[in-house]
Amino acid sequence: MRGSVRAVYTTSTRRHILDLLKSERRYLTANAIYKLLKADHPKIALSTIYRTLDLLLETGAVSSRPEGAGEMSYVFCTEEHHHHAICTTCGHVDEVDCGAMDQFRATLLAQQAFALDDHSVEFYGRCARCR
Ligand SMILES: [Zn+2]
Ligand SMILES: [Zn+2]
Ligand SMILES: [Zn+2]
Repeated sequence: MRGSVRAVYTTSTRRHILDLLKSERRYLTANAIYKLLKADHPKIALSTIYRTLDLLLETGAVSSRPEGAGEMSYVFCTEEHHHHAICTTCGHVDEVDCGAMDQFRATLLAQQAFALDDHSVEFYGRCARCR
C-alpha cells in the first residue's frame, strides 16, 4: 500500500521543504529549515534536508547563496529567469523581472565593446511591508 517507505519519505520531505520555502520567501539555511519543519514533522532528518536541497538546487526549484561559516542558505525560485530583491529589514525575497538587462547588454556593447554572456544581480532595499 505504501510502496517503498524510503521513496515516500523522500518525496514528502521534498514537498515539506518546498511548501515551507514557498510560504517563507526568504533565505533559510538547512538548519533553519530543519528547525521550522521539526515541529510538525518530528521524524525529519537534517541529512535528508541537505540531500533534498541539493536535488532542488539541481532542478532549479531553489537557489542558494553562501551564508558564511561554510553554510548555504536557500530560497524558492520560479522557473522563469529572474533576480532577487532582498529586503534588508525582514529578509523577504521578491522576484524581479530581468527585462532591463537587454538594454544594459546593448549599452555595454556600444560603449565598451563588451559582449555580455551572463550576469548575476541582486537588489537590496525595503519590501512593501517594511517601507
Ligand atoms: Zn529566485
Ligand atoms: Zn521587509
Ligand atoms: Zn537576468
